[in-house]
Amino acid sequence: MSTDYYEVLGVSRDASADEIKRAYRKKAMKLHPDVAGPGSEEAFKEVQEAYEVLQDPQKRAIFDRGGDPAHPNAGGGFGDAGFGGGGFDFTNLVDAMFGGGSPFGGGGSGRGPRSRVRRGQDALVRMRLTLAEAAFGVTKPLDVDTAVVCPKCHGKGSDGGSEPVTCTTCEGAGEVITVQRSFLGDIRTTQPCPTCRGYGSVIAHPCSECSGEGRVRTSRTINVKIPAGVDDGNRIHLDSQGEVGPGGGPAGDLYVELSVAPHEVFRRDGSNLEMAIEVPMTAAALGTTVSVRTLEADREDVDAEQGSVTVEIPAGTQSGSRIVVEGRGIPRLRGGGRGDLGVSLLIKTPTKLDGHQKDLLRQLADARGETEVNPAVRASGSKGVFSRLKEAFGA
Ligand SMILES: [Zn+2]
Ligand SMILES: [Zn+2]
Repeated sequence: MSTDYYEVLGVSRDASADEIKRAYRKKAMKLHPDVAGPGSEEAFKEVQEAYEVLQDPQKRAIFDRGGDPAHPNAGGGFGDAGFGGGGFDFTNLVDAMFGGGSPFGGGGSGRGPRSRVRRGQDALVRMRLTLAEAAFGVTKPLDVDTAVVCPKCHGKGSDGGSEPVTCTTCEGAGEVITVQRSFLGDIRTTQPCPTCRGYGSVIAHPCSECSGEGRVRTSRTINVKIPAGVDDGNRIHLDSQGEVGPGGGPAGDLYVELSVAPHEVFRRDGSNLEMAIEVPMTAAALGTTVSVRTLEADREDVDAEQGSVTVEIPAGTQSGSRIVVEGRGIPRLRGGGRGDLGVSLLIKTPTKLDGHQKDLLRQLADARGETEVNPAVRASGSKGVFSRLKEAFGA
């Protein structure tokens, strides 16, 4: 636990929901990047995260017990795997802070106009990889449907060279004050300006391309570099590749969640690969060497000889035994070599024997005194042939 959310908001541990909300608004207003400049973004995010946790009774309870509900994946992840701190949504929180679209909530008190420029949302897209792509890394094109800065007005929202004009209703203040007389005295109420919706300015000639939003939706293709060794569920964090904010505001981040397709031959177990091969009974009894394919066979950019490895099967090998080929598994994500390739063996009993072959086997049985069989019984709890084979075949 690194962050004390109560300390971040400056409230006591038994603060009421109202106190937390008030403290959050106060801090967030002060630290908002539109107000305090881009240098305050980290502190602003921290305040948001603290509020996200403490305003939710369940998350607050988890935090009070010493857990970290904002970072459920902390420590086990990869890069910025936390994805915005457990799914908080920047824009929703800004809306909550401004009272759902009406600037400065109900109790605004002379804080000036609201900025048209806001940070865009983070975006999450999914990418499917083959096992070889995940293992060896790849650069892949990815189509992203997202908001970009309007190419016509460059984010300003106004048509041509025109600038937004100061709102005549509020004279640029973004809010209007009404005074009601009552027998208790004057009651002053501050409300967002209905003409400019709190912006303090009006776009007289909205851009025809984006209707004054300063951004347009478009589909674009980016190349995503996937490092070697990634696994199912890993996320790649691409800074500022999310959607552009209203008014051409800074882009949010893009997260690419990876899923790895099952392979027809190999099963992944961490950084190890497992496969199973069938060997004829005679070869298993006499011993032999076989050529076994490796995951490299899926790559087009390596020599053909790397696509296989020679495995020695010793004489007398039993069904279910496993041979380890070192260093032919999955490269480890942060360096540190490769895992191993485990090759499990299934010994095939011959079928469709002709007369001559049957004679030969009978002679063998005779010579070994195996014409009458008294089967040896295995202990039921032993992790024997069958469980190993089941694992090897992924059953
Ligand atoms: Zn535009
Ligand atoms: Zn106005």
